[in-house]
Amino acid sequence: MQQTAGKTRHVFITGGVVSSLGKGITAASIALLLKRRGYRVSLQKLDPYLNVDPGTMSPYQHGEVYVTEDGAETDLDLGHYERFAEIECTQESNYTTGRIYSSVIARERSGDYLGKTVQVIPHITDEIKTAIRVFDRPDVDIAITEIGGTVGDIESLPFLEALRQFRQEVGAGEAIFIHLTLVPFIRAAGEMKTKPSQQSVGILREIGIIPDMLVCRCEKPMQPEHFEKLALFCNVRRELVFAEQDVAHTIYEVPLELAKQDLDKYILELMGCHVSDLEMKNWQSMVDRLIHPGGPKIEIGVVGKYISLKDAYKSIYEALVHAGVANDVDLTIRRVEAEEFEQGKRPEELLAGCDAVLVPGGFGNRGIEGKIAAVRYARENGIPFLGICLGMQCAVIEFARTVCGLHDANSTEFDADTSAPVIDLMEEQKKVHDMGGTMRLGAYDCKLAEGSNAAAAYPKGRVRERHRHRYEFNNAFRDVLISHGMSLSGVTPNDLLVEIVEVPRHPWFVACQFHPEFKSRPLAAHPLFREFVAAAVKKNAGELQETGRESSRQALADHTHE
Ligand code: GLN
Repeated sequence: MQQTAGKTRHVFITGGVVSSLGKGITAASIALLLKRRGYRVSLQKLDPYLNVDPGTMSPYQHGEVYVTEDGAETDLDLGHYERFAEIECTQESNYTTGRIYSSVIARERSGDYLGKTVQVIPHITDEIKTAIRVFDRPDVDIAITEIGGTVGDIESLPFLEALRQFRQEVGAGEAIFIHLTLVPFIRAAGEMKTKPSQQSVGILREIGIIPDMLVCRCEKPMQPEHFEKLALFCNVRRELVFAEQDVAHTIYEVPLELAKQDLDKYILELMGCHVSDLEMKNWQSMVDRLIHPGGPKIEIGVVGKYISLKDAYKSIYEALVHAGVANDVDLTIRRVEAEEFEQGKRPEELLAGCDAVLVPGGFGNRGIEGKIAAVRYARENGIPFLGICLGMQCAVIEFARTVCGLHDANSTEFDADTSAPVIDLMEEQKKVHDMGGTMRLGAYDCKLAEGSNAAAAYPKGRVRERHRHRYEFNNAFRDVLISHGMSLSGVTPNDLLVEIVEVPRHPWFVACQFHPEFKSRPLAAHPLFREFVAAAVKKNAGELQETGRESSRQALADHTHE
């Protein structure tokens, strides 16, 4: 399809008034709609902070670090991009101020600027435009770029200036501006107010940007007078003011709500692109199923250390939602703080009624013993268990301690002097001192053992999963773990690295070194999550087969050295 006459069009999305308006979800929704109209889209996020990437930031700062197939550690909005628009993001999909400055400064040091004074304008702005132009490719019809932060922040200025120049250079039809803003409801006045949006558009105009469209986040329905006022004061055509009201059930409703207002159609019209039909049937039925599940209530316990923070395990929670849809059940998540297990609370209380237990990834000591206690509870009680990255490492430590009798077993991340370092750094990692971008990152192939739960879950063919960790399963302990009943059901094709462990005598106990959550999609739940929730459904119905000859509890009790 050459509906854009071979030229990549650009959509720039800025945010006004406050942060956390859901710019990422809006950008991702727009991408989905344009894709469903037959266009090939790309998505990119420009983040105004100085960190070179979010990889070194605590989840308390910006939530989860999302990892791409090619190993970029990125902003969590890229997770929304991949989940909504079903595209694959890359290293090129996320630029920060830090990354832009690093490359300009590196170029200055090597003399590339031929003695010139290096300045924000034009050198930094040129670098930003170069980053945006990465998607000027024959296979991209429409490139969507989201600018992080809020208009008016000092940090965003170079990005906005670069966008202004960009539009000036390419012309109005080839680059459009969408401003996402807030129309708050003031309870005391009983009214919705457009003034904050007017002011935020005012700031954009000072910079030389006039938005083509406004998308207004609101709690309550906007009335005609609000649309008219915004159009008048913000200098935007009346029909190009859209409402994005809070959705009742799920973020996956957002594209459907925007489509009802023909937002995507107007974008195409503004850019002079052909408007073909919009096909959203399977998305609509996924949303319907999510809102009205046919099956029972299933509760999954997630035991982590950033439980109070909704965004820290974003992709895990979303992958569970997808698996709930795939199994057609009413899935709820119980978020359990790992440290509570260490404060004398018993696992049977904290996880009472949970049909399955998941221990996600993480870094650092806090909550480790709690996670290990949760693993033990799930393993000994035949409760379906999924361990991810650190969760897998905890599963190995727990098994080594309780079943193999290596009471001191640990990861050298937590105890450098353990006599049984079942999880340890590889030699090359021991030489690394730089914290940024130095983990095992991105996708690696994985070979599955026949007859395992993992092999049963994945479709036949190549298994490739994303990583983000420094420590690995220590091969020196393979034999002892296997002889006590752990199976290494996934390894790298060269057999060197253990990727998945299972406990075959347990009904469903799978733990993986990689992060399957990053590859789960609303219309295509990840196989491991799907089968994990399927096992939870069986558990809930009392149908879980205690596989193997004896009951799991008995068999493992025989091996327990305590
Ligand atoms: N901290 C562990 C490691 O670096 C696990 C990392 C993770 O869970 N992402 O190996």
